[in-house]
Amino acid sequence: MKNTKLTLVSPISDLKGFGPKKVHQMNKLGINTIYDLLTYFPFRYNDFFVKNLSQVADGAKVTIKGTISTSPRYRNHRLYFRMLTSDNQNQLWINFFNQPWLQRKLHYGQVITVYGRLNLERQGLNAIKLLNSKQAHQMDATYPSTKGVYQKTIRKAVKSCYDQCHNLIIDFLPEAIKKKYVLESEPQLIHDIQFPSNDKEEKLARRTAKFNDFFLFQMRLQDIKHNRKSKQGIQIGYKQSTIKKFLNQLPFKLTQAQTRCSKQILDDLASPTIMNRLLEGDVGSGKTIVAAIGILATVSAGYQVALMAPTSVLARQHAKNLSKTFKNFNMNIGLLTGDLKPKAKKELLANLADGNIDLIIGTDALIQDDVKFKNLGFSIVDEQHKYGVAERKALKDKGKGVNALSMTATPIPRTSAIISYGDMDLSVIDQLPSGRLPVKTKWIRLGQMRKYLVFIKYLMDHGKQIYAVAPLVQQTEGSNDKLLDAKLIYRTFKYHFPNYRIGLVHGQMDDDKKSKVMKDFQNGKLQMLVATTVVEVGIDAKRADLMIVFNATQEGLSTLHQLRGRVGRNSDQAYCLLVTNNKVSKNGMKRMRIMESTTNGFKIAEADMELRGAGDLLGKTQSGISNEEFKVADVIGDRNILPYAQEEANRIVNEPHWKDMKQNQNLVKILKIQNEHK
Ligand code: ADP
Ligand code: MG
Repeated sequence: MKNTKLTLVSPISDLKGFGPKKVHQMNKLGINTIYDLLTYFPFRYNDFFVKNLSQVADGAKVTIKGTISTSPRYRNHRLYFRMLTSDNQNQLWINFFNQPWLQRKLHYGQVITVYGRLNLERQGLNAIKLLNSKQAHQMDATYPSTKGVYQKTIRKAVKSCYDQCHNLIIDFLPEAIKKKYVLESEPQLIHDIQFPSNDKEEKLARRTAKFNDFFLFQMRLQDIKHNRKSKQGIQIGYKQSTIKKFLNQLPFKLTQAQTRCSKQILDDLASPTIMNRLLEGDVGSGKTIVAAIGILATVSAGYQVALMAPTSVLARQHAKNLSKTFKNFNMNIGLLTGDLKPKAKKELLANLADGNIDLIIGTDALIQDDVKFKNLGFSIVDEQHKYGVAERKALKDKGKGVNALSMTATPIPRTSAIISYGDMDLSVIDQLPSGRLPVKTKWIRLGQMRKYLVFIKYLMDHGKQIYAVAPLVQQTEGSNDKLLDAKLIYRTFKYHFPNYRIGLVHGQMDDDKKSKVMKDFQNGKLQMLVATTVVEVGIDAKRADLMIVFNATQEGLSTLHQLRGRVGRNSDQAYCLLVTNNKVSKNGMKRMRIMESTTNGFKIAEADMELRGAGDLLGKTQSGISNEEFKVADVIGDRNILPYAQEEANRIVNEPHWKDMKQNQNLVKILKIQNEHK
C-alpha cells in the first residue's frame, strides 16, 4: 500500500498504480515527479466530440454519428458504405482504407461514430478511426513520445496522476497579473490543456501556459540579477568635473543615445552594487567613446581598468585610439597581446601589479593566471559575443567586486537579449552619429563582377579605399569549387589593377605582418585590402567607401552586417557589393534581399533569428538557466509575450521583501520546486 504524503516533487513511483515498468517508461520521457507528469502537455488533439454536419467546414477532420444505411462492401483496399447522419438525416459515403477486418464488425442498421476527413463535394467522409462509446466525446490528446512508450500509456498515466493529485496544484500567478492579462489559474489551465472539452478552451489555457513559461523563467533570472545587486561592489567616486572637461575637448558632440548610455554606466560605477551591463550598439554607433568615459571615471578615482578585445589587431587599434583620446589626462596605458616578448611582458605585468598601469588593453592574454592587478575596478569586454561565459567571468574575477561592462556590435533582437542576457542590465545606443548616409547595398552574381571593375577603379582614382572580403583563406580539396578564396581574389585584382596598391591579410599570417598591412590600409598607403573575415570586428578605416563581400551567402546576416559597417564612416556615400555564386538557394536569396533592403542592425538581427529558428538562441544563456523549461512557449513564435512576462517579473522582484509577501507565497513555492528540480 502506498500511503506517503504526496507533494508536487514526489517521485511518480509514489502514485498508486505506478509500478516499476510504468515509472521506467515515464522516466524515459523525462518525467520524474508528479509536477513533471501534470505538466507533461500534449502537442496535438483530435476532436472526438460529435458534430452536426451543418457546423463543420469542408476538408476538416470531424466526428460524425449516424446509422449504416447500405451493406458495407470491400473492394480495392477500400471498405465503403452509406451512412444516414443522426443530426440532419443526410446520406454520407463512408470510406475506410486498408482495414478489411472492419467488414466483419460493421453491418447494415448499426449506429456508429466515426472520425475522419470530410469531403462535401463527394458527399463523403474518409474515415480515420472508428470510435467506441468511451472514446467519443473527448479531445483525444497526442503527447510527445519516444520508442516503446504508447500514447495510451501516457494518457492513462496523466489521467491517473491528475485524479490523485489535482488538489496539489499550486496557483502561483499573482491575482493582479491574472486580472491584467486575463489569464487563467494554474489548476484550470492544467485541466484544460490535459482534458479540454473543446478547441477554444484549450487555446485559452495555452495562452496562459505560455505566459507562465516566460514568467517563471524571468522570475528566476530577475532573482539572480537581484541577488547580484545586493552584493557589495567597488564604488567609483569620480568627479563630475573630470568628465565634463573630457567631453568638452572631444572633436565631436556625443549623440543623445551615447549620452544616455554613458550616464547609465557612470551611475552603475558610482553605485555600491556590482555593475553587470551590456552595451549594445550598431556598428559605428560609437561605443568606444562611451566606454572611455567609464574608463576615465574609474582611473580618476584611483582604480585600474582592463579592456579585452577579441583580436590583437583590434586591441592595438584600441590602444592607439584611446592613447589619443586620453592624451590630456595623464593615463598610463599598457598593451598586452600574445606575441609580446617575454622581457617586455614581465615588465608590463610587474607594472600592472604595482598599479603603475591605469588601463590595460589586450587580447585574452589578459585572463591568464600571471596577470595580476593592484586594484581592478572596471572590466570591459569588447565584441563580447566572440567570447564564452567563462572568459568574460575570468576577466572580472581578476579583482573583487569588479564592475563589468560587455560591449557588442551585434544587435541582439529583443527576444534574445531577454533570454540570453536577462540577468544583465542593458544599454542600447540606438542612433548613429549624425551625417552618416546609409550604405547602398547591391547583390550581384559573380558573372556580373566584370561590370563593376570600372566603378572600383573610379573610386580608387578618387582617393577612396576598398575592402574585398572572402570568407575562406584557401580552398580545401573537395570543397565547392565555385568558392573564391582571398588569395585568388587578390591575384585577380592585382591582374586587373597592376598599378594600384593592394594588400592582403588572412588568418594564417602572423600578427606582426597582419597588423602592418592593416596599418598601411588605415594610413591610406593601400587603396584596396583583400581579406578574410578578420576585418569583421572593430577595424576603423575612415576613408573606406566600398565593401565587396565574395561568397556572401556563406556568411550569416550578422557577419555581413558587421562587414558592411566597416564602410561609410565619413559623410560620403558608401557602397556594399554582395557577390554570390550564380546559383543561389531560396534561403540565400532571402538573406541577400534583406541586406539590400535595410541597414538597420536590429531589423537584420530579427530577420536572421527568424530564418535560423530558435536553435541558435537556446543554450546560450549567461545565467546557466536552461531553456528546456519552456513547456509550451515558442521562443520565436511567442516572443511578443516575453517582454510582458519580463516586466511583471521585474516589478515583483524589485519590491522589497517580495519573498515574504503573502500574495507571493505560492510563487516562491513553485520557484523553489523548479530550482530543486534542476
Ligand atoms: P563601434 O560602436 O562600432 O565600436 P566606434 O566606437 O569605433 O564604433 O566609433 C566609430 C567612429 O565614430 C569612430 O571613428 C569614432 O571616433 C566616431 N564617433 C563616435 N561617436 C561620435 C559622435 N558622437 N560624432 C561623430 N563621430 C563619432
Ligand atoms: Mg567597436
